Amino acid sequence: MNNEQLWQAILGEIELSLSKANFTTWFKNTFISSFENSQVIICVPNTFTKAWLEKKYHKEIANAFKSIGSREIKEILYKVETKKESWSNSLKKQANAENIIENKPKIINRFGLNNRYVFDNFIVGKNNELAHAACQAVAANPGHAYNPLFIYGGVGLGKTHLLQAIGHELSKKTDKILYVSSERFTNDYIQAVKTGQAKSFKDYYRNVNLLLIDDIHFMGGKDGTQEEFFHTFNELHQTNKQIVISSDRPPKAIPALEKRLLSRFGWGMVVDISSPDTETRIAILEAKCREKNYKLDREILAYVANNITNNVRELEGALNRLIAYYEFNNSLPTIDSTKSILVDIISNFQSKSTTTKTIIEAAAKFFDINIKDLIGQSRKKELAVPRQIVMYLMRKEINASYPLIGQELGGRDHTTAMYAYNKVEQECQVNTKTKQHIDSIKQIIYNS
Ligand code: ADP
Ligand code: MG
Repeated sequence: MNNEQLWQAILGEIELSLSKANFTTWFKNTFISSFENSQVIICVPNTFTKAWLEKKYHKEIANAFKSIGSREIKEILYKVETKKESWSNSLKKQANAENIIENKPKIINRFGLNNRYVFDNFIVGKNNELAHAACQAVAANPGHAYNPLFIYGGVGLGKTHLLQAIGHELSKKTDKILYVSSERFTNDYIQAVKTGQAKSFKDYYRNVNLLLIDDIHFMGGKDGTQEEFFHTFNELHQTNKQIVISSDRPPKAIPALEKRLLSRFGWGMVVDISSPDTETRIAILEAKCREKNYKLDREILAYVANNITNNVRELEGALNRLIAYYEFNNSLPTIDSTKSILVDIISNFQSKSTTTKTIIEAAAKFFDINIKDLIGQSRKKELAVPRQIVMYLMRKEINASYPLIGQELGGRDHTTAMYAYNKVEQECQVNTKTKQHIDSIKQIIYNS
């Protein structure tokens, strides 16, 4: 691995632990200028970035070097220097980086769609087959199959991938495609109102054949935006223009969502995506290996699939790390090296820091109820199920004792906790909604 490749691998690591905005702000235009005698020199574009990396991200950078099994490093230095390179060099660099690791600058097409998010490389399992089928139906028959199509599920389960796959498919037939996050819709709207351009905003959003709105839950509580979206929705729907919406929770569970929007979201089809089962996780890993031309032992894939269970994005992250190791050492990881390469990711997931408190907080957030009410004495019906789910998760996720669970939930008896556990366990077998709720709460627990 040369310095460029090494730095791409390091960036891939760091990107996993930072927000996108932070990552681009601080790591854009950085590179390794030399790596000699256990000393690495990292070049950055300005003194501000230099100071920031030294102060805030030095530890992350050092850890990233360690975790990809880098040569011994005694010192990491930062230097202000911009790279002058020929056009062909920078192209070469880009191609290199893309081959090495998935955490490349994403290839975005003219509609703002990521070229990797197509139906062809979406792996279908029990957890997403309905959502996948609905998306294909919409792509084949836009405006008529299901309108709107509303897809919900936890973080990293493929919602954006599916939304964009519809976009790619329909871009073969029409140019009037708009993919936006609800945040972008909100910001555009606020900006338009501020600058007196509300009309061009309306024209822009209402003049499409396909509107893909990602992460609509962020619109909760934003009344002005919801109002505008309501009108956009009506206009498009009346003229049979397709609308596809994604969210991290079902429409009903989005706090502060206007009733009239809520009812419209139910007009077409509402489908959920849950966490993939082990088989699907292995199939996804196999597909990603094929895509990148790597062959890893089945035992290793099974180890990864058995230990990273929450979402596909984390699975990809783990695989990228194994690939970076391979690139660096020029040998495939063994099961033992896999364990040590992934040790921090995996122990994160079996999170020792998850406590009864985090579970209560996550459930309160998901159900949009007060923590006080959740653990209080009120016998209101709408609190009973969330409470039972909290007790179930305390047992299931952190193996809390029944007396402790009772105590944490406002001093209830341990038999109440046992009853709740068994009831929810059974409910999960027969009721996909319950399972979905639990998955979503787990997402909140493990992703925050
Ligand atoms: P979400 O929008 O639900 O948070 P994404 O669509 O961003 O999740 O998916 C996260 C990552 O996992 C993406 O790289 C996506 O391609 C990948 N992914 C998710 N589900 C699948 C699947 N079933 N098959 C292949 N890749 C998947
Ligand atoms: Mg998404």
